[in-house]
Amino acid sequence: MMRVAAIAFETQEGMVVTDAQSRILRVNEAFTRVTGYSAEEAVGKTPALLKSGRHDDSFYQDMWNTLQAQGRWQGEIWNRRKSGEIYPEWLSISAVQDSEGRTTHFVSSFLDITQRKEAEEQIQFLAYYDPLTHLPNRRLLNERLRKVLASSGRHQRYGALLFIDIDNFKTLNDTMGHAIGDSLLIQVAQRLRLSVRAGDSVARLGGDEFVVLLEDLSPNIHEAIAQIRQAAQHMLEMLGEPYALGEISHHCTASIGAVPFRDAGESIEGLLKSADMAMYKAKESGKNAMRFFDPAMQTEIEQRAALERDLRQALLLGEFTLYLQPQVDRHGRRLGAEALIRWQHPQRGLILPGEFISLAEDTRLILPIGQWVLSEACRLLAAWRHDPALAGQSLAVNVSAVQFRDSAFLDNVAQALAESGASPELLKLEITESVLLENTGEAITRMRALKDELGVGLSLDDFGTGYSSLSYLKQLPLDQVKLDRSFVRDIDSNPNDAAIADAVIALGRAFKLTVIAEGVENEHQRDALLARGCDAFQGYFFGRPVSSDAFAASKAPDA
Ligand code: C2E
Ligand code: MG
Ligand code: MG
Repeated sequence: MMRVAAIAFETQEGMVVTDAQSRILRVNEAFTRVTGYSAEEAVGKTPALLKSGRHDDSFYQDMWNTLQAQGRWQGEIWNRRKSGEIYPEWLSISAVQDSEGRTTHFVSSFLDITQRKEAEEQIQFLAYYDPLTHLPNRRLLNERLRKVLASSGRHQRYGALLFIDIDNFKTLNDTMGHAIGDSLLIQVAQRLRLSVRAGDSVARLGGDEFVVLLEDLSPNIHEAIAQIRQAAQHMLEMLGEPYALGEISHHCTASIGAVPFRDAGESIEGLLKSADMAMYKAKESGKNAMRFFDPAMQTEIEQRAALERDLRQALLLGEFTLYLQPQVDRHGRRLGAEALIRWQHPQRGLILPGEFISLAEDTRLILPIGQWVLSEACRLLAAWRHDPALAGQSLAVNVSAVQFRDSAFLDNVAQALAESGASPELLKLEITESVLLENTGEAITRMRALKDELGVGLSLDDFGTGYSSLSYLKQLPLDQVKLDRSFVRDIDSNPNDAAIADAVIALGRAFKLTVIAEGVENEHQRDALLARGCDAFQGYFFGRPVSSDAFAASKAPDA
């Protein structure tokens, strides 16, 4: 008993001392506090008094074996309080031996770890679930996917990964606030869960990105694809129903990318990426749609990524340059030029804007690029002032809708003018009807400011191809419209094109705008346009776009 007493007895830990036959000799106060049994009730019984029934016989057998072999056992164990409540405890048991090595007593100490367990579960939840929607997160999805991949290989049945992204979620979040955005995400999560079968998983990867994992589809690829299509269609329908967000009823749609799989060798990252790419294609197709992944997408997306990387560097490395294409009056006299951007790519050579402007718009790289174009054009205009053959000629600059809508645009134009000392009236901004599509009122205000405050000219590019509305045109403070190349091409043979040209020219006259025809390639086209009263011309017939040095060197023949 001396050795036993040597162990500090009254502690926070519950303690039990038994004899070699596991009969309880002594317990402490903490034991009573935790288990609910008094010393009188416990003494003489065995610790089986506390058995919860949660462990099977082999658990206790292992414990016993370890105690015999090593003299110690510790681990987590579920026990039952006198009240019947089951609780987890951390238990350590040591065998006490006499001088001959015979076990005389067992001393156990234990801690009630209910709270720690709860905290662990909480941590576990946070590690595997999204706190907002309570859907599994990326980590749990990865684990499920790993299991599914293993079993789909065994069963020869297809599974599918669907990547779901809410259309225009960012706009909603930015304009209505994050609380509303969160509320939408929660409702989307609920609908997705309702839309799938019990065995399928729905996860949220973050933001407005969700993933659905379909399992146990047909072993036949055609049937599997039909099943995926049907499931996706069902999701799109459910997600397209109106949402109650606070006071308002909100409509929104989603885009879905899907990739079927069967091979256990498939990588999880690869599948997610493929589904993501397909989703991106669905967006491109006009949203509220689903697309399947196909390997050609991979190459395209890789090329796009490489192009974006190069584009980011191009500004820093000074790889952009402006080509100038002459604009002439009815007598063929040079009025100025349109500045057309070119990218001098170190490996690929000269790249035309058609290959990179839309990517630059998507990535908003068009903002610094457009700013560069503006200052370069202003720099040229300022330099021309000192050359009698070029002084007074105008320069037209293309402005992307993204750039035009940027809040800093007006300041940027003012800055480019001020820094270069160029005359504002010689700078002409070419905009397209797309700037009017969103927020027409604001676009018109901005156009007025450009004209009235800064004094720059405004030309409407590609006229006739957009959503041309006469009621807009009347309100716009324009100086010029550019008759689109598509009506010039067949003007001398196609009566419809000729009629449109007539209408545009008459419109220009009515609104006191000059009309310039673009894409004039031959004298028939020029003559047809001249006969209709067109004011100005641009096209290969008068000159191709050339470097600014070549443009300056050629000057105007009759200036
Ligand atoms: P755009 O503003 O309509 O420019 C006219 C396009 O037609 C130019 O193509 C020009 O080279 C081409 N072109 C000119 N004359 C003829 C002709 O007689 N026949 C034919 N078939 N084509 C002719 P480019 O330089 O490839 O530019 C394409 C478009 O890229 C431009 O269309 C413009 O929308 C955009 N772009 C060009 N430079 C810039 C820029 O600095 N910023 C922005 N945002 N966009 C630009
Ligand atoms: Mg243009
Ligand atoms: Mg044009």
